Amino acid sequence: MAIELFGSVAVASLRIMSKKDMSNRSTEYAVMRKEPGGGAMANNWNIPADLEQEVRERDRVCVYCRNEFLSHKESAKASASWEHIINDASIITRENICLCCRGCNASKGQKKLSDWLLTNYCKERGITADTVAPIIKQAIENGQ
Ligand SMILES: [Zn+2]
Repeated sequence: MAIELFGSVAVASLRIMSKKDMSNRSTEYAVMRKEPGGGAMANNWNIPADLEQEVRERDRVCVYCRNEFLSHKESAKASASWEHIINDASIITRENICLCCRGCNASKGQKKLSDWLLTNYCKERGITADTVAPIIKQAIENGQ
């Protein structure tokens, strides 16, 4: 009985929110969560909205293989994912946060950048210190 009552109170308070509130919220949600390829990509990394926006505008293609992002529906491997260049989720800076495709992200895993560039994955795809995005070149110069 108590749970049922709580449920109806929650529904009632949702209905009190004006339609304007609701539409503002969904617009904000759509802008923040829009994946470059078109689908939905959750930001589970506590990346502030302004930094997220900045990185999305900078990293239009995978920072590693430079392939265009596709929606998750079109190709899970080619869809965009958040990458921490130094594999530490607590470093939330424009230098450490970037967007790469899921394929590169999965392959890089916990590896140090310079070690990962020596893997077959990178060799097969021609990914080298010279072909990666400027933000990655900068990380390599800084010893990553
Ligand atoms: Zn990639």
